[in-house]
Amino acid sequence: MKGLLRDIEEETRLAAGYTGRETLNPRVLAAIVEVPRERFVPARLRHAAFDNAPLPIGEGQTISQPFMVALMTDLLDLAPDAVVLEIGTGSGYQAAVLSCLVHQVYSIERVPRLAADAAARLAELGYGNVAVREGDGYAGWPEHAPYDGIIVTAAAPHVPPPLVEQLKPGGRLVIPLGEPYFGQELRVLTRDEAGHVSTRHVLPVAFVPLVREGDVD
Ligand code: SAH
Repeated sequence: MKGLLRDIEEETRLAAGYTGRETLNPRVLAAIVEVPRERFVPARLRHAAFDNAPLPIGEGQTISQPFMVALMTDLLDLAPDAVVLEIGTGSGYQAAVLSCLVHQVYSIERVPRLAADAAARLAELGYGNVAVREGDGYAGWPEHAPYDGIIVTAAAPHVPPPLVEQLKPGGRLVIPLGEPYFGQELRVLTRDEAGHVSTRHVLPVAFVPLVREGDVD
């Protein structure tokens, strides 16, 4: 775990030219230390759980790179009383990291098996403030809106309008934008009190695609 933290800190420094951050919030790094990533990866890959790399989790999906989880969490800049929405539960790892930092996490996953496994894993590990539901996250989760922060962990060709609508004034949406796998860019959208949205371009990234209803897998 010490090695993983060192790797995250090193990559944070290397990416500082893009992100403007030489270091990440110590609360975020403490959450990374607290969450047992080895419990979120397939048993046969447990030896690699503390590498700073994405890993396959089945169904053609991945658990994100720890640096990216830490950076996106840092960019959300959440207060302890925050309510957060995640699109793309995957393994549940990002949701677990968020759950250490905020009041409540809602997370949506479109692949039924991943949603069920993540919900069971999070419950077993005692992350009681995370609710997971199966579905298409493009539409958000209006019942619990508005959110202090929304994080999308799959790349979309454009920002889903329902997600912007479900942000609180002052809330942030962290999302990789772009076509599948290449040429994507991480962006942070901030909604101001008047409902205007400002966009910050952060850095080039590579995420699995956000899949829409009717898309062919
Ligand atoms: N946050 C995850 C990483 C997930 S990878 C983790 O910590 O492990 C992205 C996930 O987004 C995949 O599991 C994929 O199935 C899911 N996904 C893709 N399109 C989606 C959509 N429209 N709605 C909800 N989830 C989606």
